[in-house]
Amino acid sequence: MKIALVGIGKIARDQHVPALAASPDWDLAATVSRAGTVDGVESYTRIEDMLAARPDIGVVSLALPPVPRFDVARAALLAGRHVMLEKPPGATLSEVHGLIDLAQAQGVSLYTSWHSRSAKAVAAAKAWLAGRQIRAGRITWREDVRKWHPGQDWIFEAGGMGVFDPGINALSILTEIMPMALHLTGADLEVPVNRAAPIAARLRFAQGISADFDFRQEGPQTWDMEFDTDQGQLALRMGGNLLEIDGKPEGGDLSIMGEYPALYAHMAGLVRAGASDTDLRPMVLTSDAFTIGRQISTAAFEF
Ligand code: NAP
Repeated sequence: MKIALVGIGKIARDQHVPALAASPDWDLAATVSRAGTVDGVESYTRIEDMLAARPDIGVVSLALPPVPRFDVARAALLAGRHVMLEKPPGATLSEVHGLIDLAQAQGVSLYTSWHSRSAKAVAAAKAWLAGRQIRAGRITWREDVRKWHPGQDWIFEAGGMGVFDPGINALSILTEIMPMALHLTGADLEVPVNRAAPIAARLRFAQGISADFDFRQEGPQTWDMEFDTDQGQLALRMGGNLLEIDGKPEGGDLSIMGEYPALYAHMAGLVRAGASDTDLRPMVLTSDAFTIGRQISTAAFEF
C-alpha cells in the first residue's frame, strides 16, 4: 500500500523511514515536510498539495509534534485517507475525539499509535499480571532531554507536554499491562521558570502506584517499572524490553528495536480490516496530571 509520511524530523528518520523500507506492506510514496526530505521519495511542503496531487496514496502517517498535528490529520481524513498518528495523538483530548469522529464518518481507519506498547516484554508482562492483585507499583522514567530531543524547543512549549512526552510512553505500557483501571490522585509538576511545560513530574495513582518522570538524567538512562503483587514481583526494564520475575530475568531482549515495524504491521492490518485503534487512556492520565497537578517552579533550562 502506498503511504505518505508527514514531518521528516528525528523520529521519522530514526524509525519510520527504516521501518517502512523494511516492510512488505508499505511503499513510501511521498513525504510532506517544510524542510525535511527522504532520498528518492517525492516530497511536498504542504499537505493540501500532496493530497491533491496523489489520490493514489491511501494512507498518511504523521510524525509531527503534537500541536501542529491536528490540522494535517483533519485534512487527510477529509480527503478520505487512512491516518496513523505518532504518540501523543494530539495536543488535546477534544481534538483527538474530533479526529475519531471524523474518521468514523469518513469510513477510514485511524490509529493512535503507542510505540512503547510494542517493546519486547510488554505482552509477557501483561499475561503474567492478568489475574494477580497489584499491591504497589513504582515507575521510574528518567532520561536526558538533550540526548533524545536535541534543540526541540516545542517540547517545552504549551502543548509540547514536557517530560510527559517520554512519560506518556510509560503510561501507555502501564495502561496496557494493568489488569484494572487506574486513576490519578495527585501530581507534582516541576516547570522551569523560562518554560511552559514540566521538566519533571511525580504522579500518584489510587491503586498504590507512583511514577517519577525526569528529563534531567545524564549518564545511564532509566525506563523501569516494578510491581508487587499477591503472587510475587514483576519488573519491566529498559522501556518494556526486559522482564524480571522475583528479581530473575524472564525474557525480552535489547538486540533489535522492533517497535516501529510492529506499529506499521498493525496499521496494515487495520486498513485491511477496515478498523480503527484509538485507545486514549495514556493521554487521559496525562491530561489529568495537568489538571490536578501542583506546579512547582524550578531552575531555568536551556538546551
Ligand atoms: P522533531 O524532529 O522536532 O519534529 C518532526 C518534524 O515535524 C520537524 O522536523 C518539522 O519538519 C515538522 N514540524 C512541523 N511543524 C512543526 C512545528 N510547529 N514545530 C516543530 N516541528 C514541526 O520531533 P520528533 O522527535 O521527530 O518527534 C515528533 C513526534 O514523534 C513527537 O510527537 C514525539 O513524541 C514522537 N516521538 C519522538 C521520539 C524521539 O526520540 N525523538 C521517539 C518516539 C516518538 P519540517 O520543518 O521539515 O516541517
